[in-house]
Amino acid sequence: RAKAEGSSTFNFFAPEIEAALQVRRKLEADLRRGIELEQFELYFQPLVSLSTRRVVSGEALIRWHHPERGMISPGEFIPLAEETGLINALGEWALRRALGQARDWPSGVRVSVNLSPVQFREPGLPELIKRVLEETGFPSNRLDLEITESVLLQNNITNLDALHRLRALGLRIALDDFGTGYSSLSYLQRFPFDKLKIDQSFVRDLESRPESVAIIQSITNLARNLKMATTAEGVETLAQVDIVTAAGCTEAQGYYFNRPMPEADFRALIGKENRELSLV
Ligand code: C2E
Ligand code: MG
Ligand code: MG
Ligand code: MG
Repeated sequence: RAKAEGSSTFNFFAPEIEAALQVRRKLEADLRRGIELEQFELYFQPLVSLSTRRVVSGEALIRWHHPERGMISPGEFIPLAEETGLINALGEWALRRALGQARDWPSGVRVSVNLSPVQFREPGLPELIKRVLEETGFPSNRLDLEITESVLLQNNITNLDALHRLRALGLRIALDDFGTGYSSLSYLQRFPFDKLKIDQSFVRDLESRPESVAIIQSITNLARNLKMATTAEGVETLAQVDIVTAAGCTEAQGYYFNRPMPEADFRALIGKENRELSLV
């Protein structure tokens, strides 16, 4: 058809698909340039201990300041970054930035960094993380890496080996969005995680669905028996805080406590807690 129109470019697809592809190509080009120009910022969201109600960690959540579109959430560009492999550069940037910033936090506050399953395809991932730890001078025993079940999905010996080598660096591994994948329990047999982060879908309907309470209770029992901590994700109400506390979760994270915030705000928050602590 393109030929018939006498165009010099061939359109293989219907116009709508061609338009969608063009949007995608533009976003990919923007992403590539955004990484070069460091248009990204890390927001941090507190993880709160349910026994002390103090901030025990900050999860780094990436934001993109797009020159035309303003701030974009990771849900909109992480999938594309993963498909194009750009997540490797972006993930390395996020880790280096997170450790560089968290180095100055009070030593009782850990930092949590998300890793994409795609980053595990790089055989040098454990060495890369070791190098970033050395370069930033951040103590590995204050770092949590969050991974999702898909890292173990392919029953992939290489990924398992990478997890063991990461663990050997002295950091901790948390299983993110727990309960949303398939046959989750078999993963716990294959790798000893330090923490399960219970997906927010179970927390969201706690007040209306007794089954969700039972599920959270079972997960925390299981975790306790396997000597793993638990974080309830997406806690938005006091009622949910009370339920997950009673169920035995060790930590919670969610809008009820704080939304993700710029690093300066996070630092002020934990600094204030620290000063209050030293007064008593
Ligand atoms: P995640 O790691 O499961 O992070 C939790 C997400 O839940 C965050 O969304 C957070 O803002 C949101 N959230 C926290 N509390 C609540 C709540 O009470 N209610 C609701 N409705 N949502 C809450 P965000 O920041 O949009 O990040 C989405 C996902 O993007 C993350 O899910 C993570 O998988 C990914 N991501 C973020 N930063 C990075 C990164 O640096 N590297 C990689 N590979 N992935 C990242
Ligand atoms: Mg996470
Ligand atoms: Mg999560
Ligand atoms: Mg998630």
